[in-house]
Amino acid sequence: MKTIGYIVAAILIFFGVLFIWGAFGSTPQPGWIVVGVLSAGIGLTILYLISRKAKAEAGTQVTLKIDLPGNVGMDTIKCKSCGGTLTAENIKVVNGAPMVTCPYCHTVYQLTEDPKW
Ligand SMILES: [Zn+2]
Repeated sequence: MKTIGYIVAAILIFFGVLFIWGAFGSTPQPGWIVVGVLSAGIGLTILYLISRKAKAEAGTQVTLKIDLPGNVGMDTIKCKSCGGTLTAENIKVVNGAPMVTCPYCHTVYQLTEDPKW
């Protein structure tokens, strides 16, 4: 849903700029400025609404998948309580802190291991 919003906003802004640009072309079209400004304005409004919604969601309980760089050996991360090997899918960022949920013993704790980047 959010991705669609971004695409629609980008298209609207793109065409808005094209119309404003075209308005000052070889055959000036004053009406195009209105169309262009309206189109770009709607696009920017959509972008604003999406970013505001995203911020509101981030303030609550949004969980993001952590993007670990490829050089970090995921096989080296082991569960603190049972020693089971953890994968990137077991690590989720909750309110900015990386949380580990062990698939073997179901222990949930904060990942304290320093990132190696
Ligand atoms: Zn465990």
